[in-house]
Amino acid sequence: MKPLARGSTIGILGGGQLGRMLAMAAAKLGYRCHIYAPDDGCVAADVAAQFTRAAFDDPQALAEFADCCDIITYEFENIPAAPLQKIAGTIGIIPGVAPLTTAQDRMAEKQFAVQCGGQTTAFLMAENWEEFRAGAAQIGFPAIAKTNRMGYDGKGQIKLEDNSDLAQAWDDLGQRPVIIEALVDFNAEFSVILVRGANGDIRYWDSARNLHKDGILAQSTVPAGPLVESQIAKARILAGAIAGALDYVGVMTTEFFATKRGPIFNEMAPRVHNSGHWTIEGAVTSQFENHIRAICGLPLGDTATTAERVEMHNLIGKDADKMARYLSDPGAHVHIYGKSKIQPDRKMGHVTRLYR
Ligand code: AMP
Repeated sequence: MKPLARGSTIGILGGGQLGRMLAMAAAKLGYRCHIYAPDDGCVAADVAAQFTRAAFDDPQALAEFADCCDIITYEFENIPAAPLQKIAGTIGIIPGVAPLTTAQDRMAEKQFAVQCGGQTTAFLMAENWEEFRAGAAQIGFPAIAKTNRMGYDGKGQIKLEDNSDLAQAWDDLGQRPVIIEALVDFNAEFSVILVRGANGDIRYWDSARNLHKDGILAQSTVPAGPLVESQIAKARILAGAIAGALDYVGVMTTEFFATKRGPIFNEMAPRVHNSGHWTIEGAVTSQFENHIRAICGLPLGDTATTAERVEMHNLIGKDADKMARYLSDPGAHVHIYGKSKIQPDRKMGHVTRLYR
């Protein structure tokens, strides 16, 4: 792949904090970014050269956006694939539409991971109430029901303790196709973040041990500790196989449960990931910069960790009000995303600390 010329424009679909940090990394390498997102108050647009506010399924707006860009990438996986497929003939969409269609459908994603050699918890799909009841009986309790599409940050999922939870859960999940998963008795959660270049070269960052609260990532720590570390090699083999099968270019994340049975695949994200924010200060090259390098055909940067220990805490909801306290710690790297409205489960920023 010929390197994208300096000053070229990278289109980014999605306008949240991931797009913001991608745009900042792109600027460092001499590129301009054009953000495309449906929302008002788009924090990626605040640091980008151009912004198109339009729906993800608006074919006219997408075509005009493609005309203004040299390549397109995305920072969000719940983007309708069909309208993107239409512009894919006119411009490079990297890492492509196939990773999106896989990651936005939990059933397809888990089946794909199994095909690539991964181990998952027991799961099945229920498309109607009868299947939901029968499926829960088959999986057994406790279980988790998740909407098959459009889930993120623990949204669209409900724990099922016994039969008495079923009717309410089916209603609360919107009477839509769901997958039912056996609850995993895990010792820890971790993620494998890799970058794959256009020539197929893969580099991995150290895996972080991730702590979730109410389905939302609260903290990532590197090193992840012996329990997780003994499972990373196997998890990397699966992540590399998934990336290879998708002929993936860019940063890709796979999330795992560390269990007595080894690493259990939970889900993948075809993008930079919250559990990799620590790489901005804690690695030689951040996930954001390496994603830009990969999609622009530049050599990949070193992914080595630069401290003995790195901790990243998310600032969620009102945590953002404690900014002054975080700033008074001279060793803390404080990132505020610039979102105007605080909501209880909204990611407002993060803080990274390096220990040497
Ligand atoms: P997900 O949206 O699938 O990433 O789920 C968000 C979080 O919910 C995960 O990071 C886990 O903490 C928890 N979770 C999801 N699925 C399961 C499961 N099958 N067993 C146990 N915990 C789960």
